[in-house]
Amino acid sequence: MVVVFQKRKNALWVKIIRSIYGKGGGLDTNITCRNISGRTIWKEIIKAGTIADDTRASFSTSITKQLENGESIKFWKDIWCGSERFCTLFHRIFMLGSNKDAHVADRISHNGTSTCGIWSWIRSPSGRALNELTEINNIVSSIKLTDKPDAWKYDLDPSGIYTTKSLARKIDCLKLGNHATNISVPRNKYIPQKVNIFAWRVAQKKIPVRIELDKRGIDLNTVLCLICNSDIESTDHTMVHCPKIAQIWFLTLNWWNQPTSIISNLEDAISNQ
Ligand SMILES: [Zn+2]
Repeated sequence: MVVVFQKRKNALWVKIIRSIYGKGGGLDTNITCRNISGRTIWKEIIKAGTIADDTRASFSTSITKQLENGESIKFWKDIWCGSERFCTLFHRIFMLGSNKDAHVADRISHNGTSTCGIWSWIRSPSGRALNELTEINNIVSSIKLTDKPDAWKYDLDPSGIYTTKSLARKIDCLKLGNHATNISVPRNKYIPQKVNIFAWRVAQKKIPVRIELDKRGIDLNTVLCLICNSDIESTDHTMVHCPKIAQIWFLTLNWWNQPTSIISNLEDAISNQ
């Protein structure tokens, strides 16, 4: 999060922290970043990350190093190739290495056509350590370094960039499971907040229509629509397809001089509001 904070200067949460705790965001001093209860803002952020982990969002492990020139990634101690540190995966050869904090760039050499490892030992490898050396040499030979500085990657969003929105969406999906839809509901500042919230609840299938109540184990005499009594009372039916509701859409869109075909499904009904 500290890296994201330093790189994404225009993100709203970064601006808020800077406006309260100064340009350094409280990272540079212990005095300005203390709140009333004496806890630092960053402790609170880390705590929030732990809460996100409790939802199974795997937030703490979602920001990983991305290899470029290898000058800031530790060869043995950082996770940069696969899902384990080399110091754990190749423990014998790690113990024989002379510089345990060497960077990837210190251990990899390009000679124009091929890549090989550059090693420095306290004692020459032998026995099973030699097997590990062969294995690690195979991995190293397929690594390609670039001229760009090493970067950070956020794994929970296809763009690789952390946003609070993408984390919130991930937590929503985990908490709401199959009840959630993928419909994006942008907040519309021209309509009352309660309407925005209602549209979000519709997208999450959180309005108490009969089929949703039935799924949650509530005993009902029927799951048919209360208005037309001819189809199952689902969110889609209640919001769009029920003949009476479709009639209201038809009249309203006519009144607004809009083509009546623009509302044909649930997404049309709530995503544009
Ligand atoms: Zn109906």
